[in-house]
Amino acid sequence: MPNDAFGHPQPNSRTAGAPEAAVASQRGFSTRAIRTGQDPDKTTGATIVPVYQTATFTQDAVGVHKGYDYSRSGNPTRSALEAQLADLEGAKFSVAYGSGMAAANGASFSFLRAGDHIVATKDLYGGTHRLFANVFPRYGITTTFVEMCDLEETRAAIQPNTKLFWVETPTNPLLKIIDIAAIAALKKPGQIVAVDNTFATPYWQNPLALGADVVMHSTTKYLGGHSDVVGGIVMTNDADLHQQFAYLQNAVGAVPGPWDAYLVLRGSKTLALRMREHERNAHAVAAFLETRDDVSAVYYPGLASHEHHELAKKQMRGFGGIVSFRHRAGAEAALAFAKSTEVFNLATSLGGVESLVCSPWTMTHGSVPPEHKTALGIGEDLVRLSVGIEDCGDLIDDLTQALDRARVEANIFASV
Ligand SMILES: *Cc1c(COP(=O)(O)O)cnc(C)c1O
Repeated sequence: MPNDAFGHPQPNSRTAGAPEAAVASQRGFSTRAIRTGQDPDKTTGATIVPVYQTATFTQDAVGVHKGYDYSRSGNPTRSALEAQLADLEGAKFSVAYGSGMAAANGASFSFLRAGDHIVATKDLYGGTHRLFANVFPRYGITTTFVEMCDLEETRAAIQPNTKLFWVETPTNPLLKIIDIAAIAALKKPGQIVAVDNTFATPYWQNPLALGADVVMHSTTKYLGGHSDVVGGIVMTNDADLHQQFAYLQNAVGAVPGPWDAYLVLRGSKTLALRMREHERNAHAVAAFLETRDDVSAVYYPGLASHEHHELAKKQMRGFGGIVSFRHRAGAEAALAFAKSTEVFNLATSLGGVESLVCSPWTMTHGSVPPEHKTALGIGEDLVRLSVGIEDCGDLIDDLTQALDRARVEANIFASV
C-alpha cells in the first residue's frame, strides 16, 4: 500500500486491489457498480459494505495496523466508494471529497501554483465560476472564461502560463456540448485537461477515454441520485496527479464522512437503471415542450434540433436528464411557471429521482454577475428542469397544467 509524504498509508486508491480490479473492469457497468470495491466484509461476512463510523483505528503495535489509522487519511467505506466510482469511470485512481466544490477545488488547486492560468468553460456551474473568478485570484491563479465550443477562441486564450483546461459538458444550464477530444488535442506537455462530468455521469460519457487527464463529479447529483447527500469525487489514470490530489485531500481534510460515502456507494449501484429512465423521461419532456407555443426554445442534446446533437451522439452514449427552455412571454411567465408545478419541486440541485424545476438566473447562477449571465444567454426567461424518474405521463401533465397556469397568472393570452 503506498504511503503519502507523512508515511500515512493511502488505501484510498485502487493500487492495493489492482489485480482484482483489472478482472472486474471486464464486467458490465451495473455489475461493476454493484460489485467493485464491495467484497463481503472479511471479519463478519457482512454482504454490504459497513458504515465505518470511527475516527481512529487501533494499532497492533506502533505503526502496525490494517491499512487504516485515522479517518481523515482513509476510511474503509470511503475506499469502497472510491474503488467503485473509479471502475465506473475507467480510472485507475480516485479521491472522494465532502462536496462537488471540494472536488473541483481538489482537482485544480492541488497542482496549481501562484502565477498559473486556467482556461475554463464560460457556461459553467455557478459555484465553479465563483471559485475560479473570486477565490483563486487571491492565490495568484487567474482564469480566462471562453466559449469552449469555439476551438479558435479557446486556443487564443492559451497563455505561456496556462496549466489547466477546465471543461464542463454538457454545459449548465444551456446544455451545449464541448468536444472533449478536440480540447485534449490542444494541450501541450505539462498542461492538464479536467472535465466536470456531473451532468453526463460515467454511464453516458467517459472523458478519460476521450483524452482528458482528470474527471470530477458532484456525487450530490446523479451518482448519489436521491438528493440526500452532498459529495464529490476526482479521478485520474495519472499516478503522479493522484498523489497530489490525495496529498491535498488529507492536508486540507476535505473528506466525506462514512455515512455520506455509504449513501453515494448505495446510490451509485442503480446508476444505470436510473439514467436510462431519466433519459427516457427527459426525451419525452423535451419533445413535449417543443410542441408548446408558449415555449420559444428547448435545450436538450438528444433533440435533433439541438445545435450540437451530432457531437453529443459522437462523444456520449446518451443525453442525460436535464432539459432547459425559454418561456416565450419572458421572465414573469417563467417565474409563474416555476412556482406552479406540483410534481416538479421548485429547488436548486439536480440528478435525484424526483423532478426539480429551477430558475438558473436567481438560483443556480445567483453568484454569477448579471452582465456575465446575459452574455452567456442565461436570461430570466430560462427555466431548467431536472427530469426525475416518476411516471412520465404525470410529468407531462404537470408541465401542461403549470404552463397553462402561467399563461393566466402572467396574463399573456394576448402576447403568445
Ligand atoms: C452541483 C454541481 C457542482 C458542485 O457540487 P456540490 O456537491 O454542490 O458542491 C459542480 N459542478 C456541477 C456541474 C454541478 O452540478
